[in-house]
Amino acid sequence: MLNDTLLMIPGPTPVDRRILEKMARPTVAHGDKGFVEDYKEVIHDLKEMFHVDGEAFVVAGSGTLAMEMGVANILKPGDPVLVVSHGFFGDRYTAICESKGYEVDTMKAEWGNIVEVNDIKQKLKEKTYKALIVTHVDTSTGVVAPVKEIAHMVRNFEDTLFLVDGVCASAGIEENMSDGIDVIITGSQKAFGMPPGLAIVLASQAALNRRKKLGEIPDYYVDFARWQPIMENPAKYFATPPVNLLWALQEALTIIKEEGLDARLERHTKTGQAMQAAFEALGFKVLAEEGHRAPTLSCLAYMEGIDDVAFRAKLEEEGVMSAGGLAGYAGRSFRLGHMGNIGIHDMVAVIAALERSLASFGQEDALGKGVAALQKAYIEA
Ligand SMILES: *Cc1c(COP(=O)(O)O)cnc(C)c1O
Repeated sequence: MLNDTLLMIPGPTPVDRRILEKMARPTVAHGDKGFVEDYKEVIHDLKEMFHVDGEAFVVAGSGTLAMEMGVANILKPGDPVLVVSHGFFGDRYTAICESKGYEVDTMKAEWGNIVEVNDIKQKLKEKTYKALIVTHVDTSTGVVAPVKEIAHMVRNFEDTLFLVDGVCASAGIEENMSDGIDVIITGSQKAFGMPPGLAIVLASQAALNRRKKLGEIPDYYVDFARWQPIMENPAKYFATPPVNLLWALQEALTIIKEEGLDARLERHTKTGQAMQAAFEALGFKVLAEEGHRAPTLSCLAYMEGIDDVAFRAKLEEEGVMSAGGLAGYAGRSFRLGHMGNIGIHDMVAVIAALERSLASFGQEDALGKGVAALQKAYIEA
């Protein structure tokens, strides 16, 4: 434990020792009877957790592969698609859709704010889109989209499938497919608290029907049609599954079941509120507007006179790894994740390290201020 660096970037997040130990078991054949049962359990648990009436796909890859897999199975070149972008990862979705030859319209908000649900509704009325894509939490801004409200709204547009990028939200913020979400794409290394390496795509029956209607698609590895038989019966082979990572996911899901999903989501809400209270008490500006702040990470603008590179180097020396700001916020802000399997001990340690770093930049009065605000908000939340 001495001098352990806390990995507080917005993914990968700290990995629980139980998950690491499960992963460290000797690799077995992907046809191994025990492993096939483990894989089945993972698929079953994912379907249950997210209320999936179609299929859960888990393949080797990062979140970006999941993004690609999600759209490749519900859209064909020339199809109109609407992307709601709240930052860097929304813009990445636009780029992916353009690269695949879809007809993309993008709605954008000022960084830190959201596109209003009513404005999305208006846009869907003007034109028939084959899909609507929304990033649940844009990791560049720390803004959370009102996914449930959007899901209920999209239900009125029959031809439009609703895809949610949950990479920085799934397992930390509620995502219930029965609300009207057709596809959730996500990854292992953020709120699931696992190492990177798994792309997870959850598809509703409507999404699977769309895939059937498309016929042949230009993609191979990410084709639902090739993976679905494996998800139904993991004893079959299409491409070698990442055996040890699937064990890690099995353990991550066990941890979630033990905590209870509702309790886990509540813990994230409370964590976000307490951390953000502490950040503000220390004088950082939380980039996301109040009311749209993600419980899973924060993008924090510096006060006058603090150099980004020097500050984050100091913070790392004090035991906390942070991430830099993205795009227009690079150099002016930094980002801290507060999701997955972290608890109050970690939170206190992170805020205390921030205080020591600020003190070394001449702000000695920061000492104790953040921790006091954190503790107060944590007790009251
Ligand atoms: C991290 C992230 C991604 C990309 O995931 P990778 O694993 O880095 O490919 C996509 N969308 C969101 C919202 C993310 O936070």
